[in-house]
Amino acid sequence: MYRTHDNGALRANNIGETVTLAGWVQKSRDKGFMIWIDLRDRYGITQLIFDEERTPDEVMKLAKTLGREFVIQVTGKIIERESKNANIPTGDVEILVEELKVLNAAKVPPFTIEDKTDGGEDLRMKYRYLDIRRNAVKEKLIFRHKVTIAVRNYLSEKGFIEVETPYLIKSTPEGARDFVVPSRMNEGQFYALPQSPQTFKQLLMVGGMDKYFQIVKCFRDEDLRADRQPEFTQIDCEMAFVEQEDILNAFEGLTKHLLKEINGVEIEQFPRMTYDDAMRKYGNDKPDIRFGMEFGELNDVAQHKDFKIFNDAELVVGIAVPGGASYSRKEIDALVDWVKRPQVGALGMVYVKYNADGSYKSSVDKFYDQEDLAQWAEKTEAKPGDLICVLSGDSRKTRPQLSALRMEMATRLELRKADEFAPLWVTDFPLLEWDEDTNRYHAMHHPFTSPKPGQMELLKTDPGAVKANAYDLVLNGNEIGGGSIRIHDRETQAKMFDYLGFTEEEAKAQFGFLMDAFTYGAPPHGGIAFGLDRLVAILGGQETIRDFIAFPKNNAGRDVMIDAPAKIDDAQLKELNLKVTV
Ligand code: ASP
Repeated sequence: MYRTHDNGALRANNIGETVTLAGWVQKSRDKGFMIWIDLRDRYGITQLIFDEERTPDEVMKLAKTLGREFVIQVTGKIIERESKNANIPTGDVEILVEELKVLNAAKVPPFTIEDKTDGGEDLRMKYRYLDIRRNAVKEKLIFRHKVTIAVRNYLSEKGFIEVETPYLIKSTPEGARDFVVPSRMNEGQFYALPQSPQTFKQLLMVGGMDKYFQIVKCFRDEDLRADRQPEFTQIDCEMAFVEQEDILNAFEGLTKHLLKEINGVEIEQFPRMTYDDAMRKYGNDKPDIRFGMEFGELNDVAQHKDFKIFNDAELVVGIAVPGGASYSRKEIDALVDWVKRPQVGALGMVYVKYNADGSYKSSVDKFYDQEDLAQWAEKTEAKPGDLICVLSGDSRKTRPQLSALRMEMATRLELRKADEFAPLWVTDFPLLEWDEDTNRYHAMHHPFTSPKPGQMELLKTDPGAVKANAYDLVLNGNEIGGGSIRIHDRETQAKMFDYLGFTEEEAKAQFGFLMDAFTYGAPPHGGIAFGLDRLVAILGGQETIRDFIAFPKNNAGRDVMIDAPAKIDDAQLKELNLKVTV
């Protein structure tokens, strides 16, 4: 037996017992005649004491050779500590070591295994197994486990069945790029890794499973953005015989349960907002509603003077930044520069200081009088002391720009509190989205999403106006889940593919199996998928997902620990009948 207890277990009531422990040497203090060692494992730290007078000579000698991260086993008697450590649960006791065995020596780790480590990001990624020994990472992985188990238990209790769907599937051009896997046995042919189990979960509904879920890896070969992973985990769900309302209720239930179980936060009912309202009020389809700064549209009160920039703009829109009237000229100039950065892309910014004395001072005083500015203040709900920031231009560009500014100001003003949770359903998404690159409409969610009843006809006349039975669950400004009610009859699905530019042959080749299935009694169905990595991070009060993933890829999509992706050898290529030309 390697150990009788773990390193977090021993307390004062164990004094006098003889125990055996195993773990890693966290640190060693050698005073010559006495050595103290902190022994660490997942559960905690126990202090070991080696004492010239009471510890056998050979044990004492061996103890002096122990370095950081050596794996050891000790046996000894639990004694009361002379100087107690109230910061750790085992801080009242220590073990007077009688036997010591080195289970494995360790090289000096490339960074300190401490809460505050000296290791940079790259180094920690390369030696991720050492990073995982640190509390910061270890605790996040344990936290993820807790969330995952809570999800599984909740859904299982509600009658959902977890079904595994295949990872080796067929590539389809719709959506993001696929990762593909060559098939050795089928020369020249490829599998694709699933971007999501979408069609399979729908087939499970046709198969009568009724309520399905799966905690599942999904793969998307997208251009990497900060905090995106090429492989990520979804809580994927589907239900039969449901309408949108049923799905919203079911998964509001799950999310409430998690907030309560994990964070001790009770939320009565999640607010709902249509996509159009979200865009109008926040310029964003995943608004953070933990704070105000709602958009005020100013066209009516800003386009009646000689200010050409506003008069030519499709949209003039502003927000009131709390307390911003006190910003110095320099600070405001910096804000203007901030919105002009290429990442935001505004051409400029007009501002109005709503002074504490009720007067206004603006960057466009030449054109607008106090009465005009008072109307702007009213529209943006500004209070004395606020700074009104106004952007203008094409509404499709201006809204996201002002949204970026709103989020930035909220971050700077510390209005985005990690321990505050503001969930929100965004509903009635457009069915289609215009794609500048291909000059065509694409399915905004995916091609299996059903339009709102009676709107199929609109596809011909005003496609951009067609709304879908699609919804997102937003938490603190992050999309944590999204789904839709699906098309479940062959005819509508065929029409949709046709509309999206698939020829009949293409639709048949790619999705014939699904359309066939729809002819054998497909129930009405719908579902949702949550991004587990992000959900866990937000519940954990963080915005970055990487530390909640045991072995994440870096921003270039590489696993620097195992050094992947990598070349494969010629023999492998030959077997696969592949030629690499670079
Ligand atoms: N499969 C969809 C996605 O990955 C979610 C859904 O519609 O259920 O976004």
